Amino acid sequence: MFHCRIGHGYDLHRLEPHAPSGAGRPFVLGGIAFDHPTGPVGHSDGDAVLHAVTDALLGAIGEPDIGQLFPNDDPQHDGADSAVFVQEAIRRVRERGLRIGNIDITVVCERPKIGPRKAEMIDRVASLLGCEKSDVNLKGKTHEGVDAIGEGRAIEVHVVALLASAESSAKDHR
Ligand code: MG
Repeated sequence: MFHCRIGHGYDLHRLEPHAPSGAGRPFVLGGIAFDHPTGPVGHSDGDAVLHAVTDALLGAIGEPDIGQLFPNDDPQHDGADSAVFVQEAIRRVRERGLRIGNIDITVVCERPKIGPRKAEMIDRVASLLGCEKSDVNLKGKTHEGVDAIGEGRAIEVHVVALLASAESSAKDHR
């Protein structure tokens, strides 16, 4: 019988200049490096897209969230490539006989511009999840210059992920 689960993921990171004037890490989003004067403050590499994707997957299967699985006081994750969090989440998804149906990602930030790098981020996320690029959507929005996000002091990401039973082939549902 066809079975599906839905999950929502959300993440926000403060953005600061790089050292020595701030604590911003190199700006990495969706596994792609951006050349940008600020970067996320975080224990891992601060990749808000990969963190929200991880939480959407874990949420869909009712498992502990990213902060519980990978505590931010664990020195092992200091500066970690967030790909490892996504890989663990998708491993748990597959263990339950589920696969990615589709995933929809919304990035909210004033700068850098997301549009020109969108295809690279989609490629990277699809490759981490082992799904088709056409099953991953990503859009960038600004915060219209207001509040911390609009002032460039933070980046926010929302993700919705639909999981489907692995035995039903992808084309059955297109
Ligand atoms: Mg995070």
